[in-house]
Amino acid sequence: MSATDAPPLIHRQTLGKLEITRIVEVDEPFLTPQQMFAEATPAALAPHLEWLLPKALCPTTGKLILPVQTYVIRTPHHVALVDTCIGNHKAFAGFKRWANREDDTWLRRLAAAGISPEQVDYVFCTHLHLDHCGWHTRLENGRWVPTFPNAQYLFAAEEFAYAEGRARSGEDPVFAQNVLPVIAAGRGVLVAQDFVLDDTLWLESTPGHTPGHVSVHLQSQGLQGVVTGDLIHSPLQCHHPEWNFIYDDNPALACRTRRAFLERHADANTLVLASHFPSPSIGHFVRRDQAFEYRYLAP
Ligand SMILES: [Zn+2]
Repeated sequence: MSATDAPPLIHRQTLGKLEITRIVEVDEPFLTPQQMFAEATPAALAPHLEWLLPKALCPTTGKLILPVQTYVIRTPHHVALVDTCIGNHKAFAGFKRWANREDDTWLRRLAAAGISPEQVDYVFCTHLHLDHCGWHTRLENGRWVPTFPNAQYLFAAEEFAYAEGRARSGEDPVFAQNVLPVIAAGRGVLVAQDFVLDDTLWLESTPGHTPGHVSVHLQSQGLQGVVTGDLIHSPLQCHHPEWNFIYDDNPALACRTRRAFLERHADANTLVLASHFPSPSIGHFVRRDQAFEYRYLAP
């Protein structure tokens, strides 16, 4: 079945008065464990194969399965998106796999979840990598325009500066395609890494994968939730918080941030909305020995 005729891959969950919907854009084998984490040798992986196969580790390709997805949060007052996946027609010089897509599956899944682009009030972004801000914009008559015409797009200021620097050095077209058009349209707002929208949504500063990386905290009726972003990529890192992803900008800081995040949210029984954990992605961190494991909620 091609992506274009795929059924909606949507997953709903509530947290107090918040309604959470997972909108998946792609869900496919990505890289082998050792390509993602240098320490993931066959011997280090062996104790984990039983729970990895076949849903988290593709038995055919030997690659870890990695969804790219958006979390939609409906509060009593707002519709907010956290991250906007890859998008269509994007040029990525160094990462051709996701370049120049022409696939409206993500938009159709959003519509199937009952959300029109006009309804979105806030677009949060954990960090400005190509798989987290693609649908910030879409191409209209050869011009990039904000996909969500009525939304405020919130950018952590330090992440914005980092992405701007990468654009200036010619490293990364993401800023020009996904960020600048939002600013030009007057829809962008720079915020601190500990920005608080209200008593249901705020940012947690979680630097390391990128300098201005943030996680998005949810709260309702005394219950806590968090969208991780890329401070953690795989449930393997619950068992091995010291394993850094190859693209972590500052590995030592990423490792400290990950360990502290696991500690904090395991203790609080936080509902974890993991950005790249295999479907159904949502679950809890639980302490195990000197580290953690991941318990999925039933889809
Ligand atoms: Zn990512």
